[in-house]
Amino acid sequence: MIEILGVHKSFGSLEVLRGVSLEVAAGEVVVVLGPSGSGKSTLLRTINHLEKVDRGFITIDGRLIGYRKRGGKLHELKEREILKQRKDIGFVFQNFNLFPHLTALENVAEAADLASARQFLDRVGLGDRAGSYPRQLSGGQQQRVAIARALATQPKVVLFDEPTSALDPELVGEVLDVLRDLARSGTTMVVVTHEIGFAREVADRIVFMDQGVIVEQGTPAEVLDNPAHDRTRAFLSKVL
Ligand code: ATP
Ligand code: MG
Repeated sequence: MIEILGVHKSFGSLEVLRGVSLEVAAGEVVVVLGPSGSGKSTLLRTINHLEKVDRGFITIDGRLIGYRKRGGKLHELKEREILKQRKDIGFVFQNFNLFPHLTALENVAEAADLASARQFLDRVGLGDRAGSYPRQLSGGQQQRVAIARALATQPKVVLFDEPTSALDPELVGEVLDVLRDLARSGTTMVVVTHEIGFAREVADRIVFMDQGVIVEQGTPAEVLDNPAHDRTRAFLSKVL
């Protein structure tokens, strides 16, 4: 489904991704762990071409993201084509990114028709809050609206960048419940999170990143209970 091959990305002289390769299968739930600054958000952002890679490539179902190959060369797609590709890639941000002047339903309907928007609001348990504006909703509810919006284009994969880290602790559970439900129903997901309990329970695979590389990956039991690398152990000793 997703293939990331040899991706490099620098900001100025800082190389943030230093040759990252990762494959995600259809229906798989991959959780990405790693210390602050290790490149997790940058990696997610390259997947939907919010960041251009310097080297390497990314495909979804065999189609290059952000580029087309012509005459052996890569040409960047036009903005319109990139926007079309992004419909295949749902993205949920830490800070919800809802439009404040639109209702919950209108926010979701930005991405889809009204009937689907209603259906996806129901799916995240907010069918009764369709007419509410973001400021009238709790952080957890706002994030559930953002998830409904990400689902509304019926993407092939949904990327989550620390979807619960801006929430008060008592609101984290309702958002993780939605993620759990999506995972169970076979949604292909890549989730950056520090919620280790959630990762253990829901991830098919855990990827540990540090300093722009994937240090190790494996099942939750492998990575969390029996890490192979000192860097993973050092990280886990701080978050567990
Ligand atoms: P966190 O856990 O804090 O969210 P992260 O693993 O998501 O960290 P990134 O946000 O990918 O890390 O950032 C990796 C590095 O790249 C950091 O040093 C960050 O300051 C830098 N960086 C990210 N985006 C930019 C940018 N647009 N311009 C310059 N530097 C950037
Ligand atoms: Mg980040």
